[in-house]
Amino acid sequence: MSTKRLDGDAVSQTELRMRDGQATTVADEAITALAEVLRGRLVRPSDVDYDDARAVWNGMVDRHPALIVQCAGVADVVTSVNFAGEHDLLVAVRGGGHNAAGNAVCDGGLVIDLSLMKGVRVDPLARTVRAEGGVTIGELDHESQAFGLAVPMGVVTETGIAGLTLAGGIGWLRRKHGLSCDNLMSADVVTANGELVTASSENNADLLWALQGGGGNFGVVTSFEFRAYPVGPEVFFAFVIHPGTGRDARAALQFYREWSQEASDEISSFAILWHAPEIDEIPAEHHGAPIVVYLAMYAGDAGEGEAALQSLRDYGSPIADLSAVTPYLEVQRFFDADYPAHEMRYYWKSRYLNELSAEAMDALIRLNEASPSHHSTLDVWQLGGALSRVPPQNTAFGDRSAPYLIGIEANWESPEDDAACIEWGREVFRVLEPFSSDREYFNFPGLYEEGDQSVRDTFGENLGRLQSVKRTYDPDNLFRLNHNIPAS
Ligand SMILES: Cc1cc2nc3c(=O)[nH]c(=O)nc-3n(C[C@H](O)[C@H](O)[C@H](O)COP(=O)(O)OP(=O)(O)OC[C@H]3O[C@@H](n4cnc5c(N)ncnc54)[C@H](O)[C@@H]3O)c2cc1C
Repeated sequence: MSTKRLDGDAVSQTELRMRDGQATTVADEAITALAEVLRGRLVRPSDVDYDDARAVWNGMVDRHPALIVQCAGVADVVTSVNFAGEHDLLVAVRGGGHNAAGNAVCDGGLVIDLSLMKGVRVDPLARTVRAEGGVTIGELDHESQAFGLAVPMGVVTETGIAGLTLAGGIGWLRRKHGLSCDNLMSADVVTANGELVTASSENNADLLWALQGGGGNFGVVTSFEFRAYPVGPEVFFAFVIHPGTGRDARAALQFYREWSQEASDEISSFAILWHAPEIDEIPAEHHGAPIVVYLAMYAGDAGEGEAALQSLRDYGSPIADLSAVTPYLEVQRFFDADYPAHEMRYYWKSRYLNELSAEAMDALIRLNEASPSHHSTLDVWQLGGALSRVPPQNTAFGDRSAPYLIGIEANWESPEDDAACIEWGREVFRVLEPFSSDREYFNFPGLYEEGDQSVRDTFGENLGRLQSVKRTYDPDNLFRLNHNIPAS
């Protein structure tokens, strides 16, 4: 668009969205000047790679930002934050782009995209790893395992470490070494006024506390420093498949409940309700039928792990037992192929279960059978262990008392199935309510439809402190596309 300047010349302008959602215009001169001062790149709708730059993992998300700054380093992040502040723009922050609700992008606003910022530095003696904000789990693992180390992260390697850590982070090391955010030692953060601060236990300790579960509310984290632990290179991985209907399914879940209550901290496991995929390892007569899958990794010596996981493998008459000594890196990649980026559609929510009661098990079995998509799963994450021993007030993440988390994963292929699959996810969320606490795990946020109330319930007694940190580092709520901390 163009408007007249006072001297009569036309000024071309770009229409953008402000943080309150209203439209505004910015002179193209200012946008060109922004592009010129970057070491990275400004991507605009007229660029040939615009569609690639705005695509996120969830194929259902189709947002059109006005400006995408692909930052090369901290200076570009500072420039972007200042530009957004000057023009009061709506801002999205992108790490790995895996947030299921698609908050890494926004319509009409400015995206601060860290996905080119890939630096990782391992200190093998101190057992620490420093990683920039655009690093994925696979990249972090690659560098860490070169020194026999691992940082507790999630279970799919294309996920960004940034969003995952800021909202918690649960993976195969959770019961031995805690959440990702529990292992965050320090972070460099560009705050809303464009200042770079380091948050650690010595400096800005309140900010470090808030980053440990409080999400992207406080600034753009340009680099994370983590504690790492010796793991692998091989571990024992249990992968056992049982029938998933009726009494068989109930018995398999009941056994899993008893077994998981006795498991040592080295073991982190799941029971997953799913439909059998058409793979050679599963006999053809089970293809497409409901199944219960046990998955467990032993974070320690592989031989000890084999012995420790034998009891899980001994239960019942499995359809298949594919357990084996496995490279840790392969365990980390185990789920990757099931979650292709861009082409599938996803709606993920969660419920913490106070107990895996008979009623809850029956509901899970029934809901799995009723799922409109055979890609969908109901994941019973075993919690407890190290992650549960961190007192709620020690990190923003808060209460860790629930023994199980149910990951509600609606996964499907075709846009025509959007309504049915999202409704299934919401139905599971509703049905599980009586068995659950009122907290949510914000890395599986649905479409954030529960809003403020869920943020209040989830942070509980930590909410007041989070609000105070928010007022210090982002008083005008520039960073709002997240599980946003309410001002009062
Ligand atoms: C296939 C798949 C598997 C998953 N598995 C697990 C799992 O095993 N365990 C688990 O805990 N979670 C898991 N998740 C959930 C995952 O943790 C979240 O989707 C998380 O948001 C991903 O982080 P990201 O950086 O890729 O996301 P993005 O979409 O890039 O970012 C999500 C949000 O985080 C904030 N953010 C991102 N980067 C920064 C930054 N540098 N500074 C400040 N704020 C930032 C922003 O608010 C942004 O909207 C999985 C997700 C997917 C898609």
